[in-house]
Amino acid sequence: MGGVFVAGSINMDVVATADRHPRVGETVAGREVLYFPGGKGANQAVAASRLGAKTTLIGRLGKDSFGAELRAFLGAQGIDLGHVTETAEAHSGTAIITVAEADNTIIVIPGSNALVSAEDVAAVPLAKGDVAVSQFEIPLATIAAFFRHARAAAATTLLNPAPAQKFGHDLLALVDILVLNETELSLLAVTELADSDPHDRIADAARRIRVNRDQIICVTLGKRGVIALVDDRTVLIQGRNVAAVDTTGAGDCFVGAVAALLADGQPIESALGYANVAASVSVQRMGAAPSMPTIAEVSAALR
Ligand code: ADP
Repeated sequence: MGGVFVAGSINMDVVATADRHPRVGETVAGREVLYFPGGKGANQAVAASRLGAKTTLIGRLGKDSFGAELRAFLGAQGIDLGHVTETAEAHSGTAIITVAEADNTIIVIPGSNALVSAEDVAAVPLAKGDVAVSQFEIPLATIAAFFRHARAAAATTLLNPAPAQKFGHDLLALVDILVLNETELSLLAVTELADSDPHDRIADAARRIRVNRDQIICVTLGKRGVIALVDDRTVLIQGRNVAAVDTTGAGDCFVGAVAALLADGQPIESALGYANVAASVSVQRMGAAPSMPTIAEVSAALR
């Protein structure tokens, strides 16, 4: 059995709620302030760890109180933090979120996440059977170095190219499994796609970006589920009919779950099916990291 290694972002999400948003230059009194551990790397590591995978996170925090809180939270999730370092050169990644009138504004400051380096990922002990996971909240050159290191060790590489950003063929060629949503696929395939588009149209776009037949492309479609290209097959997994209350982090839950099942030696189709169930549990709860389900909760949903 292998482990899951996530090279990625760790953020503190600071959420201020108010009756209405301030106009430029204006101050309004808020209702409350909430602190949520976040960042796609951290969220995906939490999902994998809660689903039973031996999970290691590779990243950077600042030498500040958010850094200390984030480390304590992630450690309590059973995640190996031996490759999460503190840097004096930047503060911990922070998102400032305002919520009012059922709408939000978000400013994300990458801070220490922007300093995760090729040297940081080179020190990670990867082996055959391990799954190396990354996303676009750390430098692309670091992700490429991580995946080259993983390929040399015969580990599996899984990229979640989110938030949507254009990237080169060189990086895509290092990816065994690409997990993306329709917005990210639209950017890569240079076409406008919606998650309500016919399955054929989405599968065609996925086929156009695929570098070779060994690469697995998995497109998540929110409540409609998932379409994946696996070898010559197009695999459809229906979304589950649940009462969603907060879909933040659904994609991160899905990615962490796929990685956990693959590290456990499960075939890709079983991993995708299980991840679809895990993500459907996460959307029934508030928050991103706190909404990630345990094995017992996924089993209960399957009964
Ligand atoms: P992202 O958050 O990256 O946009 P999606 O919205 O596509 O990702 O969601 C990822 C996965 O989470 C979906 O493929 C599905 O398995 C699950 N999911 C998301 N929203 C719902 C929902 N409303 N009902 C059931 N499952 C959902």
